[in-house]
Amino acid sequence: MDIKAPRGVRDILPDESWRWAYVLDVTAKTMVDFGHSEIHLPIFEQTELFSRGVGDTTDIVEKEMYNFTDRGGRNLTLRPEATAGMVRAAVEHGLCAQGAASRLWCWGAMFRYERPQKGRYRQFFQIDAETLGLSGAVADIEVIALSAEIFRRLGLRNLEVVLNSVGCPKCRPVYREKLLAHFSANKDKLCKDCLLRLERNPLRLLDCKEPECGALADAAPAIYDCLCDECASHFEEVKSGLSGLGFPYKLDKRLVRGLDYYTKTAYEILSGDLGAQNAVCGGGRYDNLSESVGGPHLPGVGFAAGVDRILLVMEEQGCSFGKRPQKEVYVVAQDDTPAVRDAALGLAHRLRVEGIPVEDDAGDVSGKKRSFKAQMKSANNAGVTWACLVSLGEDKEIALVMKNMATGEQTAVQPEDVALRVKEAR
Ligand SMILES: [Zn+2]
Ligand SMILES: [Zn+2]
Repeated sequence: MDIKAPRGVRDILPDESWRWAYVLDVTAKTMVDFGHSEIHLPIFEQTELFSRGVGDTTDIVEKEMYNFTDRGGRNLTLRPEATAGMVRAAVEHGLCAQGAASRLWCWGAMFRYERPQKGRYRQFFQIDAETLGLSGAVADIEVIALSAEIFRRLGLRNLEVVLNSVGCPKCRPVYREKLLAHFSANKDKLCKDCLLRLERNPLRLLDCKEPECGALADAAPAIYDCLCDECASHFEEVKSGLSGLGFPYKLDKRLVRGLDYYTKTAYEILSGDLGAQNAVCGGGRYDNLSESVGGPHLPGVGFAAGVDRILLVMEEQGCSFGKRPQKEVYVVAQDDTPAVRDAALGLAHRLRVEGIPVEDDAGDVSGKKRSFKAQMKSANNAGVTWACLVSLGEDKEIALVMKNMATGEQTAVQPEDVALRVKEAR
């Protein structure tokens, strides 16, 4: 077939998707325990939501968005991240009206036109949690603790919380000037991209991956020495709150993240097992996002975590994914006569209705039952507990035999007794 999945996207096949289900189950339960309610957001939004909310000097908005015009001439974008949509939905539906706080989470596909590499796709899946309507440091601490707890429950090890504050509109300009002075004095050492950043978004100079820029960034002044009183005390509260909960963290003055709307807390959780792409989760506070997209003042803090990356680390660390859901019964038809076919189909349906996972022989390409031997082989391969053999007896009556696949023991049974026996033997 000439038609293939587009570059940078992939199919999640059954051998993998049950592991996804496990990760999402663990995540969903943890979210509930931390008071976050699940919501589902549209996959596309008005382009403006992201160009204004994420910031039009970010890589995401400049180079990575999937923009399109629909048949009604509307400018739309496949969501590159979930936070802006979450804030839009909360404002649109008044979830934080009259000063209420709202703790939300969602998961789903996001889209960015990036160079595909291991663990990075153009359609990728994120888990996203946001606390809206709270400006105190407690919300930041709870969000960081929530993300760390999800990873703890999934069995991830060697994780490190990395923390910074990116200040606020009051103190960031002061820091910006210091950064500009520092980098301008070393302009000749900067890469092409960083020369642009110098003009447009100097904070982004700190996360350049080029070695020479990186060395300059390491020598740059730290923002936490320039924070205003409010940001400084917020930062102190977050740090002591994390210590109080027993979370070790490391400060990283170069952690600014790619998004313009962050204020105060910025954090990542890093895994030692991911090489250069080592963040399993990133988040922080964004008190000005709502206003930047025309909403009311609505402080928020949250995080996003990539499901692909989480699975990569879990596989590398040999974490458990629980048990893959298995078929319990395989219905084997002795032959392809109508009476046996009907009885086999009837038995399979009766068991399924009882909530017992059943596989049966749907036949070959033409729909004919395969041989008894081929069916028994499939039953073995399916790893079922029971094979139910359906045949036509000498008396022309349907006969049923249950075979215990572990012991080989065979018992003649009536159709109405099979479900009970299966359940009793569990
Ligand atoms: Zn500040
Ligand atoms: Zn650079």
